[in-house]
Amino acid sequence: MRGWIGVIAQRAKSGITLEEAYVKAWHIITDVNPFPSVLGRVCPHPCQDGCSRGPKDGPVEIRSLERFVGDKGLELKLPLTRLEEGPVRGSVGVVGSGPAGLSCAYQLARRGHDVTVYERAPLAGGMLRYGIPDYRLPPAILDAEVERIEDLGVEIVLGTGVGTDIPVAEIHERHQAVFVGIGAQLGQSLGIPGEEGSGVWTGADYLRLVNEGKVIDTGDRVVVVGGGNTAVDACRAARRRGADVVLLYRRSREEMPAYEDEIEAMLAEGVHVEFLTVPTAIQRQLDRVHSVLVQRMRLGELDASGRRRPEPIEGSGFTIEADSVIAAVSQGPDWHQLETYHPDGGWVDTTDHGPISSDVWVGGDIRGLGFASLAVSHGRRAAEEIHAGLCGWDMPEPEERSKRDVPEVHADLYPTRQAPKPVLLSPEESLADPKAEVAATLGEREFLQEAESCFSCGLCFGCQHCWMYCSAGGFAKVVEPRPGTYFTLTLDACESCGKCVDVCPCGYLEFDPGSVAGDVRSPVLPTAANLPGGSLPHRTDLTTGASDMIDLPPTASA
Ligand code: FAD
Repeated sequence: MRGWIGVIAQRAKSGITLEEAYVKAWHIITDVNPFPSVLGRVCPHPCQDGCSRGPKDGPVEIRSLERFVGDKGLELKLPLTRLEEGPVRGSVGVVGSGPAGLSCAYQLARRGHDVTVYERAPLAGGMLRYGIPDYRLPPAILDAEVERIEDLGVEIVLGTGVGTDIPVAEIHERHQAVFVGIGAQLGQSLGIPGEEGSGVWTGADYLRLVNEGKVIDTGDRVVVVGGGNTAVDACRAARRRGADVVLLYRRSREEMPAYEDEIEAMLAEGVHVEFLTVPTAIQRQLDRVHSVLVQRMRLGELDASGRRRPEPIEGSGFTIEADSVIAAVSQGPDWHQLETYHPDGGWVDTTDHGPISSDVWVGGDIRGLGFASLAVSHGRRAAEEIHAGLCGWDMPEPEERSKRDVPEVHADLYPTRQAPKPVLLSPEESLADPKAEVAATLGEREFLQEAESCFSCGLCFGCQHCWMYCSAGGFAKVVEPRPGTYFTLTLDACESCGKCVDVCPCGYLEFDPGSVAGDVRSPVLPTAANLPGGSLPHRTDLTTGASDMIDLPPTASA
């Protein structure tokens, strides 16, 4: 994160304009993720949990920053870039155009391969298009980011199911390698009496119909079952169609796996939740859903998922009147006609890059229900291995991250800040305009303030503290500064007072552990291997030598 956020936050220090900083930041993000505008809207931002700013005054709003940069990329019509020019190296088929498949396709196309994506739905995007509702992710944003991948030369063949419209064997005749990213599109049923028939949908089917703009006759009273994101999205979508919605969840609020801000929004929009409640039968009159029989639960011992197991309370049954039921309890991969890849069905267990045979890789929800950024990273990792294979290279071992994974940041040396407040439509506005996007992109002022609040953990951001406090004159400003590179250090001049390390807020400078043991406080400089996030180029400008190579810095002569 520090990379692209630093480019923006430190633009003045490194002598680039704001627009140049936006372009650079966008290219850094899209190097790994071709969907910054999409993920900037929907990612559950697990990265923010690890942000060092968190304990001080809340994590940096990385997702909001990514959204702003992504939208800038769309506004400036920035194109995705190729890594290598020259003749096409190989041909790869991708099954499924969700974030996993498109990420894989993008990474391969920019490495010079010929890529065809086969998609059974009429439009590309997978659950980003047919699962996540428009009020969270406007289709125009998804369209624009998919189009950029096509502009790079990726062919997307729509309305073509592999195994159904085109045989699996033909895909393998056409391509040297295949990536399978079919997701988890199959909604699970409840397995209770009365479920068969009209007025009952799975969450995945219901949201697909909503996102396709279909008319769905759910009636005025909708009961949704489940506690995950699909259930919450189904509730909010049904509310936007004017229904009274009751959500049944078998555990308590604390155990709900849906994203917290989505649960809050759902409650604000007037969805009524019956916690610790399960449906036991759907009752019909003249074939139409009439009501749902439910039962109260209590939480017992911990189960395999580490959560307390819900157990029925005898004699606690009651009835909820309903016109329709949406079963959003779980989804799984649909292996129909694709059994050759995974005869046992269910989730695929594989290693980091997702190989399941010498010419087939898998990634995304097919490996277990996840989120979009995880699918993007699966696609990218598989592409790296496919690329290596097509070029006849050995796959490099992943870089070891050691010693300095978490730099020692001095949070007290940074001023406190006010995190930007999300700008949201009110529940009334949202319900009145079902497709209106609920959350807005940050304004430029808020964006810049938030970017500048990044601690730049472990990476010099030119605060000048070391330079100001070093009475020995060990630090000198570099002529062409850039993020991570603002000073050179002459270790021969070092008097080992240790002040520079004490006042370095971001933890870029640290003590040489050897010299501390010997009661000498000498700085030791980071190397590529021990920097968080792995290698960044041009690291050693801070050492005495003018070398541009990443190298172990000399220790102080004390
Ligand atoms: P998918 O996105 O499911 O894409 C698979 C694609 O393969 C589909 O387009 C499908 O049509 C195609 N396909 C399937 N079979 C075939 C075949 N035989 N031939 C050709 N094509 C085929 N994640 C977040 O990060 N944030 C959120 O807010 C969020 N909300 C969600 C809300 C809902 C309702 C749902 C269902 C999911 C949500 N997720 C969210 C999860 C996220 O959407 C998924 O993790 C992600 O889309 C998985 O990507 P994927 O590429 O593996 O599969």
